[in-house]
Amino acid sequence: MMVSVVVPFYNEEALINDFVERVYTAVKDIGKAVEFVAVDDGSSDNTLALLLTAREKYNSLKIVSLSRNFGLQAALQAGIEHCNGEYIVLLDGDLQDPPELIPDIYKKITESAADLVVGRRKSRKEKWPKRQLIRWFHNLIEPRYSDSGKIDTGNFCILKRIVAVAICNSGEKQRYFPGLRSYVGFKVDYLDYHREERAGGSPKMTYRKLFSLAGDALFIYSKWPIRVCFFMGIIGLLTLLLAIIYTILSKLLGFAPLGWSSTFLSIYFFGALQLFFLGVVGEYVFRVYKEVQNRPLYVIREIFPQKEEKS
Ligand code: UDP
Ligand code: MG
Repeated sequence: MMVSVVVPFYNEEALINDFVERVYTAVKDIGKAVEFVAVDDGSSDNTLALLLTAREKYNSLKIVSLSRNFGLQAALQAGIEHCNGEYIVLLDGDLQDPPELIPDIYKKITESAADLVVGRRKSRKEKWPKRQLIRWFHNLIEPRYSDSGKIDTGNFCILKRIVAVAICNSGEKQRYFPGLRSYVGFKVDYLDYHREERAGGSPKMTYRKLFSLAGDALFIYSKWPIRVCFFMGIIGLLTLLLAIIYTILSKLLGFAPLGWSSTFLSIYFFGALQLFFLGVVGEYVFRVYKEVQNRPLYVIREIFPQKEEKS
């Protein structure tokens, strides 16, 4: 039985060495065979070279190198699909989730009846505006299928293989890992921890990437956009009803020609409403189109397997 540690890296040359050292120091305490699957998500810096050097030293390091930057979600998927452990630990590659927690989270899953244990952040080091955005986002997405615990969770978790397989087998192309992880169910437990600051380099999930991911998650995992349209439609109908009554009354009572502002405003109102609806429908059409295209989630340039013979 083996434990896999799966980590995506995108231009993380500043902290790769430190990361690998800390992982291997930490997993000594596990007492089980450990494989480390590093996914190089098309880095343009020395990430791959540094990983290859580390692989000379650590035989159980496997590197999956993608042909370009496919994004965090695809990189996670690539890592999960290329690991062999009975238990799979997922970590961010920037040391925000301290590798020293690997033995703790492993212990937790073996000692509890849970099928997955998810790291829950007791504190965050992100700056206030980003923290606020994260909170709004979670409040928007998660109430549908969560208990309150999920708001402060991220990718950091340990999964039994059945859970990982269930997540991987979900066929959608636009993925949001924490959402899928909730969706597949199973018995979940939490490990509380303090999320560190990024140990070096700059965040690779830029605001642009974060907003795009948030958009995917919003449209895929919540009915919220459609529901807003529905309610706005109802408001529009009610307004229409009032306008009909007003029009008939004004006709009957003889002050009909008055209505320039109301005509003007309602044309604007319904025009804007329709554009908004079209935008929302467009978001769905676009996503359906992307699913139908059925392109691969990621493309592998090269796999560097474990150097088993030395271990
Ligand atoms: N990452 C990746 N591909 C990307 C962006 C990020 O593999 O396109 C990796 C990155 O190297 C890091 C992890 O995903 O290991 C989390 O990224 P980051 O720390 O930038 O995200 P944040 O902490 O801001 O959510
Ligand atoms: Mg980070």
